[in-house]
Amino acid sequence: MAIEKITDFEKCCGCGVCAALCPKQCITMEPGAEGFLYPHVGADCIECGLCQKNCPVNKDVDDAESYPRRVFACRNLDRDVLFQSSSGGFFFEIAREVIACGGVVFGVVFDAGNRVVHAKAETLEALRAMMGSKYVQSDKRGVWPEVKAALQTGRKVLFSGTPCEIGALRAFLRKDYDNLLCTDFICMGTPSPAVFARHLHDLEQRFGAPAASISFRNKKYGAYTHSLSITFANGKSYFRPQYAEPYVKSFHSRIYLRPSCHHCSYKQAFRLSDITMADFWGLTSTDIPLTMAGGVSMVIVHSAKGMKYFDKVKGRFTCYETDMATARRVQPMLTASCAPSPVREAFFRDFRERPDAPFSGLIGRYEPIPLRDRLRARLKTLTGLRRLVQGLKRRFPALRHM
Ligand SMILES: Cc1cc2nc3c(=O)[nH]c(=O)nc-3n(C[C@H](O)[C@H](O)[C@H](O)COP(=O)(O)OP(=O)(O)OC[C@H]3O[C@@H](n4cnc5c(N)ncnc54)[C@H](O)[C@@H]3O)c2cc1C
Repeated sequence: MAIEKITDFEKCCGCGVCAALCPKQCITMEPGAEGFLYPHVGADCIECGLCQKNCPVNKDVDDAESYPRRVFACRNLDRDVLFQSSSGGFFFEIAREVIACGGVVFGVVFDAGNRVVHAKAETLEALRAMMGSKYVQSDKRGVWPEVKAALQTGRKVLFSGTPCEIGALRAFLRKDYDNLLCTDFICMGTPSPAVFARHLHDLEQRFGAPAASISFRNKKYGAYTHSLSITFANGKSYFRPQYAEPYVKSFHSRIYLRPSCHHCSYKQAFRLSDITMADFWGLTSTDIPLTMAGGVSMVIVHSAKGMKYFDKVKGRFTCYETDMATARRVQPMLTASCAPSPVREAFFRDFRERPDAPFSGLIGRYEPIPLRDRLRARLKTLTGLRRLVQGLKRRFPALRHM
C-alpha cells in the first residue's frame, strides 16, 4: 500500500501517527528524497484503514470560536531565562510549573548526534535542553505511545510542538485527558532535517570537531533576531546573523520547508492547543509600552485549562493584555500558509544530485549572501573584527605596520 492510501503525499506532515497506531506494526517512517520522514507501508498490511481514519491531516479543523480567547504580550522578568529563550521566555515558565507539580514535559531537543527530536523532560536540567527554537522538523518516532503512557499514570503532561503535532497527538490519543496541557506556536513551517544535517556536517568539517551546542536565536550580540550560533567540542565557535547565514537566510526564504507547510490546515486562529506562543513581531505598531529588546512573547490562550496555567505563571512576566484583532494584524502566519520559494524545486534537485557538494555552495546559487552582509556579520563580533583586520593585513601587506 502506498502513502496515497493514507493521505496525499503533499498533505502528509510526517507525524507518524499512522505508524504508531498500525495494529500490524507494518508502517515505518523513512526519510524521503528531500529528507523529510514519510510512512512506508510494509507487505503485512491488512488494509484495516486505521491509519487513514486517524491521520490528522485527513480531519477537518474547524475555525470555531469556542472559548473567549485572550491575547498577551509577555517578557520574562528573569534575564537568564529570557536570553536562553527564542521570544519572551514563555515556554520555560509554563513547563517549569508542570515539572514543579511532578509532571512531565515533551518538547524538542538536539539529541547526542545533534538530530532534532521530540523528547521527555522530568527535571529542570532536561527542560533547559528544550529551550530555544530548533528550525528543523523534529523526529517524533516513538513519542506518541510515550506521551500516552505518561498520561495514563495520572501525572500532569505538557506537550509542546507545532500546530500539526498537536493535531497528531489528539488524533493518536482519540480522547481528551484532564491532565494534558498542549502548547503550540505560530509556525512558518519546518525545514528539512537532511538540509540542516548537511550544513552542520560542513561546519563540523571546517571547524574540526563535532558541534557541542547549537542555537538559532543567540541574543548575545544585541540584536533580537535569528542567527546560527555553534560551539564545537574543541572550543571553537561559529556565529552568523540571519542575513549572512546560508541556512537561516534560506529558511526565511522558504526554500526547504516541508511541502505540507505550504497548505497547512492548522494555520487558523482556532487551535487544538491550550496556548499558542509566538514572537510579538509588530509590537511597535501597537500601544503596548514594551520594546522588542531581549524578546517579547505573544501568548494566545485558547481554553480554560490554558488560562489556569497562564494565571499561575503571569507574575513572572512583564505582561500586557491585547486582543485577537492585533494578533491577526501583526502575525499573518497565525492564519496563512506561506508560498514555497520559486527556487524550491531547483534547489532540491541540486541537493539530491550533488550529495557531496557543501551546503553553502549549493544554496549560494539561489540565495547569495552579498559581500556587504558578510562584512556586516563579521563586524558584529569582536572576534570577527579581529579576523577581518588580520585578513586585510594578509591581503594588503602595506597595512601590516598599522
Ligand atoms: C520551526 C519553527 C517555526 C516557527 N515559526 C514562527 C513564526 O513564523 N512566527 C513566530 O512568531 N514564531 C515562530 N516560531 C516560534 C518561536 O520561534 C518561539 O519558539 C516561540 O515564540 C516560543 O518562544 P519562547 O521564548 O516562549 O520559548 P522557547 O524556549 O524559545 O521555546 C522553545 C519551545 O519550542 C519547541 N520547539 C523548538 N524547536 C521545535 C521544533 N523544531 N518543532 C517543534 N517544537 C519545537 C520546544 O519544544 C519548546 O517547547 C517558530 C518555531 C519553530 C520551531
